Amino acid sequence: MAAPRAELTSTGALRDTMAAYYRTLGDAAENKSAPVAWCSSVGPAELLRALGFAVHFPENHAAMLGAGRTANRYLPVAHAQGYSQDICSYLTSDIGAYLAGESPLSAFGLHGVPRADVLVFNTNQCRDVRDWFEWYGRQWNVPVVGINSPRSVGDVAEAEVDDVTSQLEALVPVLEGVAGARLDSARFAAAIGAAREASSLWEQCLKTATHRPAPFTFFDGTIHMGPAVVLRGAAEAATYYRTLLAELEERTLAGFHAVPGETLRLYWDGMPIWGRLRALSTTFAEFRTAVVASTYCNSWILSTLDPADPLRSMARASVELFIARSDGPKERYIERMVELYGIDGIVFHDCRTCPNNTNTRYGMPRRLSERLGIPTLVLDGDVNDLRCFSDEQARTNIEGFVEQLSDARGVSGRREN
Ligand code: SF4
Repeated sequence: MAAPRAELTSTGALRDTMAAYYRTLGDAAENKSAPVAWCSSVGPAELLRALGFAVHFPENHAAMLGAGRTANRYLPVAHAQGYSQDICSYLTSDIGAYLAGESPLSAFGLHGVPRADVLVFNTNQCRDVRDWFEWYGRQWNVPVVGINSPRSVGDVAEAEVDDVTSQLEALVPVLEGVAGARLDSARFAAAIGAAREASSLWEQCLKTATHRPAPFTFFDGTIHMGPAVVLRGAAEAATYYRTLLAELEERTLAGFHAVPGETLRLYWDGMPIWGRLRALSTTFAEFRTAVVASTYCNSWILSTLDPADPLRSMARASVELFIARSDGPKERYIERMVELYGIDGIVFHDCRTCPNNTNTRYGMPRRLSERLGIPTLVLDGDVNDLRCFSDEQARTNIEGFVEQLSDARGVSGRREN
């Protein structure tokens, strides 16, 4: 048996921070204490917060459905509405849960997802967020607005940043109309400053895993990134990451092993498999293998945000985002991470219903393996649809991969008994 994972003490503060956020959202939706905006994960959250909106992130809600392993109950409900089994299972599980009248937010006193006054997407990640939001827009007869971003961006061109900046500028009066308030430039700059500070602290937290042994792993990161996602632009996120960083630095000084006997270090590319986080974390740990870094957790490092130039720096962060880039910049980014974290091998998650955040299908694993001289593994799965994931197959593949890595490095990746 693998040694039990030692949970971070900060998890208590994390739960409190997230619960307070959900309660504030519920208060806005149910007592009308603030207008409610829905925002895609890397949409213009800072702008919405500066305008006084309570901001709901449906991808966070969908991830809760996945992590709670209830998503598969809801998928058929959306499929019956004509939403294909092949499209984003975040979208289909979320819409299915709405139609079933169920939500994990009920644990925080909400009666389902908060009804939106406006839904704001950014297609920098995929078209699915727009389709998802338009479903709710029709349901509630409320406006759906957003940014149509360039995709497959190579080297970022100023014209692309100009385009997104103009789209953001055009959103401002529309959102002011819904909020019933003018955008206050000082408040906007403060929201951008708060987002930048939290992003910087989150980056420092992630980088503690450059140490050997790593004090926390990708699987911890997927949970502890919650405030970076839902509290972008709010002061509470930085408050939480100061607490987490202090604990991770203590762990590092003490030589704490997140994975007891860490022998191998991996990089994870692609979406998490929310319903199997714990199982995968345990399996890798059994093989003394730490997944120390990921594209996913790094995607909420938004270093270009600048309070002195709020709109344009938001536009630049949006265009530069990993998921919006072509394979060249993506590969260069992963190469830098492999170097920085001392990575022995890369796991690519081929996410069945999210081709947008899957990098396995156009030869990238092979190219990186040849260029970097390290093995890669493609794991079949899905972000929320567990019918696409086989525990047995994944375990067999991981075991074979660890053996291959261990042979290559001349170390023992044997199981801990
Ligand atoms: S990036 Fe993938 S998982 Fe996220 S909303 Fe788009 S299709 Fe769904």
